[in-house]
Formats: sequence, structure tokens, C-alpha cells
Amino acid sequence: MTLFIYAKKVFLNHQWFEDQKLEIDAQGVLISMKSAFAPSHEKTIDMVVPSLANLHSHAFQWPMAGLTEYCSSHQDSFWTWRDIMYQFLNKVEPEDLAIIAKALYIEMLKNGYTEVGEFHYLHKDAQGNPYQQPDLLSVSMIEAAIEVGINICHLPVFYQYGGFNKTAAGDGQKRFLLSDHQYADLVHSLRSRYQQHHQVKIGMAPHSLRAVDVGDLKELCLDLADNQPVHIHISEQLSEVEQCLKVYQKRPVELLYSELDVNAQWCLVHATHLNEHEVEQIAKSQAVVGICPTTEANLGDGIFPLSKFSDLKGNWGIGSDSHISVNMVEELRWLEYAQRLQMHRRNVYASSDKPMTAINLFYDAYKGGNQALGNTNSGLEIGKKANLLALKIPDQFLPCNSDQIFSKFIFSSRNNWIQDVMVSGHWVIQQGQHPLDEQLPMQLKKVMKKILSH
Ligand SMILES: [Zn+2]
Repeated sequence: MTLFIYAKKVFLNHQWFEDQKLEIDAQGVLISMKSAFAPSHEKTIDMVVPSLANLHSHAFQWPMAGLTEYCSSHQDSFWTWRDIMYQFLNKVEPEDLAIIAKALYIEMLKNGYTEVGEFHYLHKDAQGNPYQQPDLLSVSMIEAAIEVGINICHLPVFYQYGGFNKTAAGDGQKRFLLSDHQYADLVHSLRSRYQQHHQVKIGMAPHSLRAVDVGDLKELCLDLADNQPVHIHISEQLSEVEQCLKVYQKRPVELLYSELDVNAQWCLVHATHLNEHEVEQIAKSQAVVGICPTTEANLGDGIFPLSKFSDLKGNWGIGSDSHISVNMVEELRWLEYAQRLQMHRRNVYASSDKPMTAINLFYDAYKGGNQALGNTNSGLEIGKKANLLALKIPDQFLPCNSDQIFSKFIFSSRNNWIQDVMVSGHWVIQQGQHPLDEQLPMQLKKVMKKILSH
């Protein structure tokens, strides 16, 4: 059945259009957009904008968001947080993970994300033994996404070692470890199982240069299919850069580029600590940088050199990573504000020919996020399956023009303006509600109770 949407304002191809009728065909594809007013019996949406891809998620970390904000050592850091996270994840069982993922993915939809890049490294049980069905946890995450209606790029993680120089993995890492053969089997089985599913893509994710041997990483990349996304954590922490220099006499990004053909299929997650040469290398390669502003702030990682990178037309998108915030508005705000604080300037992500900071941030995050997740067939573009957000503009802002209203949404909205969310031509959130809203909070409460018990 063809679906028509009427909107007072639509943001499409980096332009605003007023009073439009969008036509979406039975396959969910946006086939046309024309000037028109809604007939009296039809509702008119205030503002239609694209949705974003959340390119970096560790769903299992969501329940612990906010629970590590206390002094656990004389100098808390990423590494002390990681120890707490390892203790926490040992309590998560397959049925818990499915509930966590469903509830989290609904939260993502309500907050403007319609694609998720799930960087998934929980493969084994709490004792470090494989499940009878080795891809059990990956499958339960993917099925959770399908059930709630979010598109997923599942990124099974390859994790071999506890640190550089093939350091043996610690006890906290035993659920992540796979041999190269086990990993290849996992990717292969997921790819064959979900090959035909329009909501699912299967990528690859070597965890980091700390956790994967470079030689094995090269072997692994021989199996990469065309356009199959490949994601890696890189240069998140200064000590990681120092250790890499010690072992390889190269910084992590330099090492990666010297050993592999890094191209537009790649997503370099964090890439926080870069020298100028590395910034140039990444931009030139067309790889996407996966910036996770609220997590990077929460973990004290550092600040990505966005200004230099954008001067070189580098690609980037955003991820909510540890899910300390599941809110794209907050990610974009933090991204810009960190630059302002560091550079003592305003409107860093803007220029005289592209003056609107909020629009620039949002549009580039839209492009980069979809690229990172290999999403070429959905979005808010004619000829693609329609992924979009319907915003309710507070009445008092109606005298503002579209750019001003959107700036208010990104920089000063306190409540969620997103009312309805469409994925691949279907409404998955309506009036801020998802069909599973009744049952999931109770289930999640039970999971929280179990995880918090000693
Ligand atoms: Zn991560």
C-alpha cells in the first residue's frame, strides 16, 4: 500500500522544503516528494528530517551506564572503568542480553537512530566456554534488532590477546576470545543466515591493535567481501599509543595504514590521539572515524581533532558506545562543545559558505554513519527505503525559520522533539511509543536486579 506523509518542513539533500507530500511505496521506498498541503482529514507533521546511524554500540554495557560514577581508585581512568565492566559482564547471560538489546534499541529509535553498528565481543559463557550454538549471542542481538524494527550492522569482534606483543588475555577477557578459525566460522555462519534479510548486515571487527596480531589481521582482511564494513577501536587512550610505539615503533594509525589497505569500508572508532600525518592519512583514505563524544568524555579519553579533519574533508559519524547517553542530540552538542572549549572559539563546525553549525554536524553524521554501516539503500533520499524522524516543533518557535528551529533542536532542546520514527517505510515509533513499551521495562528491571545482586 502506498503511504503519503504531509509535512510543513522537510530536510532533504541538505536543503529545506516547505509544505511537502512524500510518497512511500509498498516496498517502503520514498518515490516522490511534491509541494502540497494535507487534505483536512490527514495529519501534517511539523518537520521531517533524516534519522542517524549509531555506528558504535556495546549493548551489554548499557545497564551499567551511570553506575561507575564514584571513586574506585586513587586515580580513576578508562582502565579502572574497564575492570568494573569486566566484572559486570560476567553476570550477563544470553536471555538477559536479548532483553537489554531490545530495550536499548527501542531507546535508540526514540532518540533518532534507525541503524545500529553493534560491535559485539561477548561470544562465550561466563567460564569462557563456547555455547553449544557458537553464534548464540550474536544471533540473539540480531533477532532483538529485527523484533524492535531497527536496522543492524552486526560487527562480530575478533579478540585474541590481552595487550600488545601477544600478551595473554586476562580472566576478564575470557568471554571474548576466539581462534582465527572460530572467528571465520562465526562470520561465515552469520552471513549465510542473514544474507537475504533487508534489516541485517554482517561486518567484521578486529577489536583493536592491542587485542589482535597484525599478521592475523591481514589474513582476516583477505576474507572481506566488497562493501563489507570493517570496524576497529584505535588510539582511544594515550597509553595505547605509547605501548604501540614501544612494540612497533609506530603509532596505531600509522601501523594500521602501513600494513593494510584502509579504505572507505573501514570505520576507525575513536581515533582520538592523532598526529597531523595520521589525520591526513585517515581523511585521504575515505575511512570513517567513529566519534563517540559522550563516552569519550565519560571515560576521559580525549578530544578528536575535528576541525583539522574536516578541513581535509574527512568522513565521520557518531556512536553511543557505552551508552552513557543514548541521544544523538547530546552527542552532536558534546562534539561541537569539546572543540569550542579546546579552541576557545564558537561555531567550530561551520564556515562562511556553510554557516549553520547544527545542520553541518547533523548532515555529516548522517552521511558518515550510513557509510560506516554499509547502508546504501535506506535514508531520507528519493529512491531509498525511507528512514526518517517526525519532529514536533514547540509552538513558540514557529516564527523561526527552518535553520533556526533545527538549531534550537540540536543546541537547546531539553525534551525530546522526536514524535514518530520510520524505518524502511514503516512507523516503528508513534507518538513517542513503541509496541513493546508495555512489557520490556518489567523484564529489564528483573535483569537489573540480577546483575546488581552479588
Ligand atoms: Zn567501543
